[in-house]
Amino acid sequence: MKKKTPFLLVLVLLMICHNSNAQKKEVVIKIDTLSPQVFMLTGQGGNIGIYIGAEHIFMIDDQFARLSEKIKGAISGLSKKPITKLFNTHMHGDHSGGNANFNTNSVTLIAQDNVRKRIKANQQAKLEKQEVTLENMQKMLPEITFSNDITFHEGDETIMAFHVHNAHTDGDAMVYFMNNNVLHMGDTYFSGRYPYIDLKSGGSVDGYIAAHRKALLVINEDTKIIPGHGRPSTKKELESYVAMLEDIRTKIKQAIASGSSLDDVKGNDTLTKIYDANYGNGFINPERLRSIFYTSLKK
Ligand SMILES: [Zn+2]
Repeated sequence: MKKKTPFLLVLVLLMICHNSNAQKKEVVIKIDTLSPQVFMLTGQGGNIGIYIGAEHIFMIDDQFARLSEKIKGAISGLSKKPITKLFNTHMHGDHSGGNANFNTNSVTLIAQDNVRKRIKANQQAKLEKQEVTLENMQKMLPEITFSNDITFHEGDETIMAFHVHNAHTDGDAMVYFMNNNVLHMGDTYFSGRYPYIDLKSGGSVDGYIAAHRKALLVINEDTKIIPGHGRPSTKKELESYVAMLEDIRTKIKQAIASGSSLDDVKGNDTLTKIYDANYGNGFINPERLRSIFYTSLKK
């Protein structure tokens, strides 16, 4: 008879392996200066935007809960002013996972209506499985929500947040710092790689492309763009990115019209081939991108 490895031993070994991997990959928070008052923080998960006003800090997204202390440390290195507003570009955990850790009495959480609904539903499921406490769940939720746009007046700066419909999810908002001329696009833009479009959370290819067209109306040649993932970007780069998405949309629509199945489109690398070397090396590989486009455009 073969000896079985006890379950508990396997579990402990897995945990040790996991921990040593985590230690090897120590997350470092890097800072890009985009304007005298706006900074981009990169760690693990979605890019964070920080605006340092005359008295307060306005923060966009907060990555995962486990990174909150490091993120707070990086922000206090920039300024000792208090954070008073925390804006979520959408509901995904790599952008909003730290909400509860930042949500003190002096911080207000803000997001589009659907972000609150979806975070609440996710947290409720976790509460039922006893993975979170009721207090933690409540602290995760945006406290002010809006349907289409909201504008903040912080000293000399006007901060415009506007909802884009059914793009990456059904609750995306972009945030534009008018005087500093910086736009945070959340996950409606993955610079340098194919986008993830979360069809199950209300995202769509047409909405994603429409969001880019809307952003292009707001910005100019000098605007600095903070993408949800990837390096800071320019209007020119966003223009070529959306042209790429539109071209792929046209090709996949033609394939659908000529009767191609999902498997045909997934297997047909000629549909994306000219872009794969530049954009296909990220989280979304070419086959996955074709699958997302097919599923969304077939609807
Ligand atoms: Zn996302």
